[in-house]
Amino acid sequence: MKKLFSAQSVTVIGVSSSPTNLGRAIVFNLVKYQFNGVIYLVGNKGGSFLGFKIYKSVLDVPETTDLAVILVPARVVPSVLENCGKKGIPRVVVESAGFGELGEDRKALEDEILEILERYSMKLIGPNCIGIINRHSGLAVPFMPIEPEAPPGKVSIISQSGGVGASILNSLGAERMGYSLFASIGNKLHSNECDVLECYLDDPNTDIVFCYLEGIADGRRLMKQAMATSKPIILQKSNRTEVSHNIARSHSASLAVNDSVVTAACKQSGIIRVEDQTEAFTIIKGFALPKVKGNRLGIISRSGGHAVIAADAAGKYGFSLPEFPQEIIDEVEKHSRAGVIRFQNPLDLGDVFHLELYKLLAEEVLRNPSFDCLLFIHHYQGLFDAESSRDLVKALPGVVERTGKPLALCLFTPEKELAINRRNVNFPIFTDPYDAMKALAASRDFYTSQVYPFPEKRLDNIFPDKAKSILESCSGKKGYVDPALAAKVLEAYGISLVPWRYARNENEVLLAAEEIGFPVALKTASEKVVHKSDVGAVRLNIKNASELIEAYKNLCSFDKSVVVQKMVEEFAVEWIIGGRKDPDFGAVIVTGLGGIYVEALKDFSIRIAPVGPEEAFKMISETKGKKLLDGFRGHPRLNIDALADAISRLSWLLHDCSNIMEIDLNPVLIGKDEINVVDWRMSLCGNSHSAQNR
Ligand code: ADP
Ligand code: MG
Repeated sequence: MKKLFSAQSVTVIGVSSSPTNLGRAIVFNLVKYQFNGVIYLVGNKGGSFLGFKIYKSVLDVPETTDLAVILVPARVVPSVLENCGKKGIPRVVVESAGFGELGEDRKALEDEILEILERYSMKLIGPNCIGIINRHSGLAVPFMPIEPEAPPGKVSIISQSGGVGASILNSLGAERMGYSLFASIGNKLHSNECDVLECYLDDPNTDIVFCYLEGIADGRRLMKQAMATSKPIILQKSNRTEVSHNIARSHSASLAVNDSVVTAACKQSGIIRVEDQTEAFTIIKGFALPKVKGNRLGIISRSGGHAVIAADAAGKYGFSLPEFPQEIIDEVEKHSRAGVIRFQNPLDLGDVFHLELYKLLAEEVLRNPSFDCLLFIHHYQGLFDAESSRDLVKALPGVVERTGKPLALCLFTPEKELAINRRNVNFPIFTDPYDAMKALAASRDFYTSQVYPFPEKRLDNIFPDKAKSILESCSGKKGYVDPALAAKVLEAYGISLVPWRYARNENEVLLAAEEIGFPVALKTASEKVVHKSDVGAVRLNIKNASELIEAYKNLCSFDKSVVVQKMVEEFAVEWIIGGRKDPDFGAVIVTGLGGIYVEALKDFSIRIAPVGPEEAFKMISETKGKKLLDGFRGHPRLNIDALADAISRLSWLLHDCSNIMEIDLNPVLIGKDEINVVDWRMSLCGNSHSAQNR
């Protein structure tokens, strides 16, 4: 697979001399991008094109090639592949459409293809794609003509859609941004985004990856790749409607919908998820600059208004604006007429017409150890200052090179001037301070925040075999399990439940309460009641036997069986820890402010399981409820470490036991010292293989 992009020879199959033949565009592209390898053409009618002979069959080509690009009707693809196999061609790109995307009935055709690939150990990209490009070697095989506007550079692109892929290349071209490798992966029949990503992460010319996807082939592998690389991966994942999943009756499942799982997976693994292509390009531009290693920003602007806007933008993205140190002031004053500049940050240069000085200032700010990055805003209308402004823009890449620090250039000028500047420099140009700030912030967040890989070791006091053997006793069962059984499973993972007993009559209720000690809580054990307190099936703070019997009589209208629990009396915040099986990512864990306001507040953080306590702590920190745990309005600081520990334990449980569909601990009462789970629910998939973790 890694050799796919370094192919030195290519056979293009499906070329004819007819002017409407699409295969011709592939050949055009190879010529236009000046492919530095050997090209052979194949088409069943023979003839010639652009001076190349068209062979009637792959078998007639005088030598084997590193790559074949196939654009023939879908039904002919298997026989063409068979010939490629016989010829010893190891890698193929199938651009033809008419496979799985048309429906289930094309499955047989796809199976036939997979069988041939297996037999000849061939690798395939596609089908239903526009192919690949190596901008450095000129290997460019899309079947639509794509002007080589975008120069060779550091970004590499994976696009599931050919059309979007082509539009990405157009946008790169329009902004003169360079790229290294491009692949449109279409139906992902035999290689998916992770296979291509592996090549990119190994490619010395690739510093940044942009990925457009409509489906996630292997979420965990993608995450692991992102966790292990130092290269930023920017993901635009569309097709965001809620995919169908068992909308469970309990809280966490109804909240952790698929798209939020994708967002969570990105956050956890350091993938930068973007909304749309505009945002993607903004962020790619940020990564084209040197790393943003901190938060301290300088702003220099020729226009006061833009400086004010920029200050707001800096605030929105969490940058600080330190004062300019005396050294900078001294250095600059040497070159300026004294008293013209008021040295504040943002710096308004409105009164200074000497553009050389702008450059000097930029360089001084970036050289100064008190600054991590600079937003440089220049405004010109082009009447008398066009030449000097263009020269200024041309000088800025040099400033960045010499200082090794990021300078985001934001240019306000008529469209015509903007285009000239874009042609003049291979350097990102922003046209809005908010975009520039977003770009610098993405780089800062990527380089300064810690990504924790999936933990390898479980915490102590976790006994997977014990939990599994308990669960085996209900193998094949689907839906909610008995709370007593769920309790045993949770205890096998060291999750602490409040002291509790089952009781089925007055005597048992009294006995249980005596054992536990008053005050107690009494709840129905009826499986039919989902939200017990909504229907009066939870009685709290029962202080003595007569209150207890009274409460029990009332609860008997639901079911004779009840749960007697110790009443947690110390001050506690109600928290939720839940999780479920996601069809794409496997076990997913959710946590946030709990109790009965869960759905109203939706204050949640989601991750892919398992997570260690560090990642669990990050999850807690993401919620607004964290403030309540920190000690709020005279309340003590609560035991966040114990909460993080419990989150990690539950995540391992979900990860280890593949027949658990969902678990919902709500609330977990977080106290100063203890945490107590007072309400828990567990449901099974019914089939231990239905939602395996990969
Ligand atoms: P449900 O969620 O089905 O309504 P819960 O068992 O979660 O029922 O109880 C509802 C609320 O009662 C909890 O959110 C909590 O505030 C309180 N509660 C339940 N059990 C206890 C307990 N043992 N100690 C203290 N408070 C409790
Ligand atoms: Mg509850």
